[in-house]
Amino acid sequence: AQILRDRIDKDGKVLNDRVLKVDSFLNHQVDPHLIMSLGQAFADHFKDRQVTKVLTLEASGIHIAFATALRLDIPFVFAKKRPASTQQGSGVYTAEVESFTRGQTCSITVSKDYITSEDRILIIDDFLAAGNAALGLISVVRQANAEIVGVGIAVEKSFQTGRKRLEDEGIEVLSLARLKSMDPATGVEYVKE
Ligand code: 5GP
Repeated sequence: AQILRDRIDKDGKVLNDRVLKVDSFLNHQVDPHLIMSLGQAFADHFKDRQVTKVLTLEASGIHIAFATALRLDIPFVFAKKRPASTQQGSGVYTAEVESFTRGQTCSITVSKDYITSEDRILIIDDFLAAGNAALGLISVVRQANAEIVGVGIAVEKSFQTGRKRLEDEGIEVLSLARLKSMDPATGVEYVKE
């Protein structure tokens, strides 16, 4: 999406060759008009695929999943990183996810009530780097014997391994901005599509 690439060019900060800071518009302060455009783009792409639910991971996927689900007119579910006491044990699906930005591993959980074998799931997240967050969500969907329709990502760092790992699982990935490289001195280059 041109609108996202333009915004990255204007307000994104390349911290180093691996981390792009977008917290003035995407994942700390949030531009709701931009997020609605991203939701519309995901909805336009996946609208004929009988998606029943959007799934994301708290916290920075929630607003993008919300916008997508609103446009598809279906619910969204966010996996929790710190299960509430009401949410432990046999009532949840769990996966371990290594955090790209924090370097720690955390468990993510989704209540069995909210994904079932009837569901066709669109996974949404803000970034795709090594693919661990998306693969954790994929694991949850598979535990529920639900179908994965695809993965929608706002910013894909195409020089990292995430896309290949998802495609190796047979999963379609739609990324709205695909970064070929990043450099703190010269900025971001995009994959030509
Ligand atoms: P992965 O699990 O694919 O390695 O990384 C994806 C997760 O790490 C995303 O949910 C996102 O929150 C975070 N992340 C990965 N790369 C970046 C980045 O360059 N900038 C920011 N702000 N977050 C990132």
